[in-house]
Amino acid sequence: MPGFELFGDLERKEVNDVLDNGVLMRYGFDGMRKGHWKAKALETELKHTFKINHVQLVSSGTAAVSVALASAGVGAGDEVIMPTFTFVASFEAIMMLGAIPVLVDIDDTLTLDPKAVEEAITEKTKAVMIVQMCGSMGDMNALRNICTKHNLLFVEDACQAIGGTYEGKPLGSIADLGCFSFDFVKTITCGEGGAVITNKAEYYKNADHYSDHGHDHVGQDRGAETHPFLGYNFRLSELHAAVGLAQVKRLPEFLAIQKRNYTILRDALSQVPGVTFRRVPEGGEESYAFLNFFLPDLETAREVSTAFKNNGIDACFHYYDNNWHYIRKWDHLKNVKSLYPISKEVKQGLETLQNRKFEQSDHFIARNISCLIKLSWSEEEVSKRATNMVSCVQKALNN
Ligand SMILES: *Cc1c(COP(=O)(O)O)cnc(C)c1O
Repeated sequence: MPGFELFGDLERKEVNDVLDNGVLMRYGFDGMRKGHWKAKALETELKHTFKINHVQLVSSGTAAVSVALASAGVGAGDEVIMPTFTFVASFEAIMMLGAIPVLVDIDDTLTLDPKAVEEAITEKTKAVMIVQMCGSMGDMNALRNICTKHNLLFVEDACQAIGGTYEGKPLGSIADLGCFSFDFVKTITCGEGGAVITNKAEYYKNADHYSDHGHDHVGQDRGAETHPFLGYNFRLSELHAAVGLAQVKRLPEFLAIQKRNYTILRDALSQVPGVTFRRVPEGGEESYAFLNFFLPDLETAREVSTAFKNNGIDACFHYYDNNWHYIRKWDHLKNVKSLYPISKEVKQGLETLQNRKFEQSDHFIARNISCLIKLSWSEEEVSKRATNMVSCVQKALNN
């Protein structure tokens, strides 16, 4: 997945354009720029990439989720449904607005189970946020139908799935709003950065103003701009945008390498009886950023994970025992370890997690191994890796 692996002259040229004139900020300073508008140019590129009407760059993927929700009016006391398997950014971004994260089970797609979503809806529910984890997606039509039926906002966190599609549409462009990250380990990187995408002009206008202190961006004089509403600073700098501009032009190349490497590994593991794969919904195509597979039980998954580590197979994760991506180890969330006071309703919402079991999620995450697909591997290296992986898995299955 990581764009940082392939970094070179194109990136340097774009960054040097910015250093040439010294305008490191995306707004204003028109006279000094010598025509360089990297953030604007990146937004235009991303509109083509995502086949979407509007793109607002922001400072991170986490910021993108907060800005997306804020732009659609989600805030204090509203419940946002999200999956148990995700990155910590999901609940952070929701809580930043005073909203309540409501965690629900995943299914064999490794993201939101539509049935679990429907069961979690209350009169306080305002939005459903799917997280397209590890390059693939959930049952988008089923989730969309639930949102329509209950009049809920539908948001996609596609931070890990740039380049994936569903029924021909880019992931991130299907829900009401989509969120992307361009941090240092994502498929394309700005160093740090993110984007909110939408086809709704009003959400876009809100995201544009909100991510820059509520400034309305009318006219040439920043000091003379009015503030239709309160905002915050989630701006992306021109330096970061310049890196992203070079990277986004290489996205097709990155995706082709991912697909090649993924396919070699998957074909090899498919030959092993006892190995199954995550379900990709009909009409969907993964971004091939990760290869996810299941073993028959937790013990075998642990054995495989250890064997991979002992045999130099890096970048594979058993999220059940990992602190980053699964609710099981999020004690800081369950115990509401906040530096500052949190509202009573958010606290009450989180405290329900302390005794809550997510057996269905455990069933999938306990048995899942998730392998990052790197761009820097040669074909020969991937083939060797595949043989090595198969041997580790077979050994564990025979134990
Ligand atoms: C990386 C990531 C984020 C957060 O992005 P940052 O740019 O690091 O803030 C959010 N959600 C998911 C699924 C991610 O993988």
